[in-house]
Amino acid sequence: MAAQTVESTTAGSATPVDLGPAAALSCRECGHRVPLGPVFACEECFGPLEIAYDFGVQSAADTEQLRKRIEAGPANIWRYAPLLPVPANVAEKPNINPGWTKLVKADNLARELGVDVGKLFVKDDSGNPTHSFKDRVVAQALEAARAFGFTTLSCSSTGNLAGAVGAAAARAGLRSCVFIPHDLEQGKVVMAAVYGGELVGIEGNYDDVNRFCSELIGDPAGEGWGFVNVNLRPYYAEGSKTLAYEICEQLGWRLPDQLVVPIASGSQLTKIDKGLQELIKLGLVADKPYKIFGAQAEGCSPVSVAYKAGHDVVRPQKPDTIAKSLAIGNPADGPYVLDIARRTGGAVEDVNDEQIVDAIRLLARTEGIFAETAGGVTVGVTKKLIESGLLDPALTTVVLNTGDGLKTLDAVADVGLTATIRPSLESFHEAGLA
Ligand SMILES: *Cc1c(COP(=O)(O)O)cnc(C)c1O
Repeated sequence: MAAQTVESTTAGSATPVDLGPAAALSCRECGHRVPLGPVFACEECFGPLEIAYDFGVQSAADTEQLRKRIEAGPANIWRYAPLLPVPANVAEKPNINPGWTKLVKADNLARELGVDVGKLFVKDDSGNPTHSFKDRVVAQALEAARAFGFTTLSCSSTGNLAGAVGAAAARAGLRSCVFIPHDLEQGKVVMAAVYGGELVGIEGNYDDVNRFCSELIGDPAGEGWGFVNVNLRPYYAEGSKTLAYEICEQLGWRLPDQLVVPIASGSQLTKIDKGLQELIKLGLVADKPYKIFGAQAEGCSPVSVAYKAGHDVVRPQKPDTIAKSLAIGNPADGPYVLDIARRTGGAVEDVNDEQIVDAIRLLARTEGIFAETAGGVTVGVTKKLIESGLLDPALTTVVLNTGDGLKTLDAVADVGLTATIRPSLESFHEAGLA
C-alpha cells in the first residue's frame, strides 16, 4: 500500500521532529504507535493514524495556567498551539493565521426556526483568510510539511482546500501544486489559482482526484511532496479541533448542547468531537453530554443513508449535488462519524439542492451571513432536525457555516435586481419602491 512507500522515502530521516505536544502517531483501530512522520495508515492493520499527545497537564493549577495562556494568545488558531501538532514558536513563522472566527448569536434565525431566542449560534468560518474552514487544517499540515522537509505542498480538493493550500504555500515560500475535479465552480477555481501555484484539473470527480494523488505519492515523481490531506492527513485533521476549542471558549468555556456539522470526508466532525473530549479531559470545560449532528447533501449522502439504515459501514455514492465542497462519495471517516452521531445521541440528516438554496437565503436574510452551499446544507439540516424533533429547540445549538457564498454564486443565481429604474423620483415611484 501507499503507506509503506511513503515511509521508505523518508527512511533516512530518523531525527525526532518538534511538533510541540504531538508525541506519536497512533492507529485509531488497533492502537499501534509509530514515531511522527509523513504516514497515514497503520503498518499493522491499515487503520488510519492520528496524533497522540502529551499535553503535560497534570493538576488543576496546570489547567488554569493553560487557560490563561490561551486567553492571552493571538486572535487566531495559534492561541491553541499547546494543544496542536505544531512547534511552540509557530506563530512567529510565515503562515496565514486562520481562526478565531465569529460565533454569531443568531436570534433572527432562531425565531424563524422556532428555537429559543439566545440559544442558537452560527460559527461563521467564512471569515477565514481564504474564506473557508480549510485554512485551519492546512495550517497544521504546513507545519508538518516544514518539519518533514517537504518542498511542495499539494492536495486533492473539492475546491476550498485548493485555495487554502495555494495561499498557505505562497506565504510560506513553498511550491504548491494542487489537483481538483475539472468542473468546479468558477469562484473556487479563481480562488485557488490566484495565489500563483500550479492548479491542475482532473477529468473525474473528487474520488478520482484522490485516487490519482495516492498514486502520485507512491511514485518517484511525488518525492518531496506533502499532500496535506493524504500523507499529512493525521496532522491536517487536527486543525478541525480548533473549531471545538473556539466554540467552547467563545461560549465562556462551556460545551454547547448540540452541534450541526457538515460532512465531506467526515474528518472535521470526528475532530470536533476529539477537541471537545480533550477540553473535558484537560478540565477546561465542565463535563456534560452534547450531541453532534452530521449534515450532508441528498445528492451525496453516503453517511446519512448508512445512518438511517442502521449500518456501520458506508456504501460509496457517485455525487450529484450543488454542494460540491461536500461531494465526497467515499468518505474516509464515514464509519467514525456514524459512531459519534450514535454515541452522542445526535443523528445524520440530508437536504436536497432546493432546500440548500432556501437555507442559504434564509441565513442571509435573517443574519446577514452569505454562506456557501455547505452552509446551506447545515442550516437546511438544522431546520429539518427541528421539524422532526431530533434537535431540541430549548438547548444551546451551534450550526457551522464553513464557507463563503461568494465562491458558489451560481447556487443563488436567481436572486438579483428588484427593479431597474431611470435616475428620477418619478421612475422610483412608478416602480412602487416608495
Ligand atoms: C472540506 C469542507 C468541509 C468538511 O470536510 P471534511 O472532509 O468532512 O472534513 C466542510 N465545509 C466546507 C466548505 C469544506 O470545504
